[in-house]
Amino acid sequence: MKLLIMGPPGAGKGTQAKILSQKYNLIHLSTGDILRKEIEKKSSTGLEAQKYMNAGNLVPDEVLLAMMYSTLTELQHKGVILDGFPRTIPQAEGLSGIFESLNQEIDGIINIQVDKDVLINRLVERAKNSGRADDTKEVIVNRQNVYLELTAPLIEFYQKNIIHIDGDGSIDQVTERILKRIP
Ligand code: AMP
Repeated sequence: MKLLIMGPPGAGKGTQAKILSQKYNLIHLSTGDILRKEIEKKSSTGLEAQKYMNAGNLVPDEVLLAMMYSTLTELQHKGVILDGFPRTIPQAEGLSGIFESLNQEIDGIINIQVDKDVLINRLVERAKNSGRADDTKEVIVNRQNVYLELTAPLIEFYQKNIIHIDGDGSIDQVTERILKRIP
């Protein structure tokens, strides 16, 4: 099974992706986590990505596409849940090409929806303990704006296959809503 999980920063994608990966025995691929590991390793991808991430901007599409091409090709037919990718229309187009070349299809696209004000408050709370360089108020607001401008158009791009989930509630409530709708 190939699942995508989308939603604005702070919507709880990572948390839900982790739960779903355990439930359905999928590999959880979070591009944010992969990039943070690259930064730790001080690899060329990490060094390139760091300046964008610290400012709350998106890392260039070609970096993400190269990274996901090699990761997905290596995993072949294994089940995956993609968390945080694609984040732009060119990434979504690139992903279609990758899956086509691997003879694979997307089985479900989950979009977690939460109001912008709720999200900003959640992220400011998370920032108190996260230690993430992109968890300052200014960067948090920028990440929401980047989401609206570059990532939200994916909702229309995927409109036929998307499953909208209300993300306002407890972790368990949101999981329950998703499980009811998974194909
Ligand atoms: P996340 O952990 O998903 O919130 O991602 C943290 C940061 O990593 C984002 O703000 C971006 O700078 C970068 N990032 C993660 N996924 C992508 C992507 N698909 N395209 C571009 N940048 C990304």
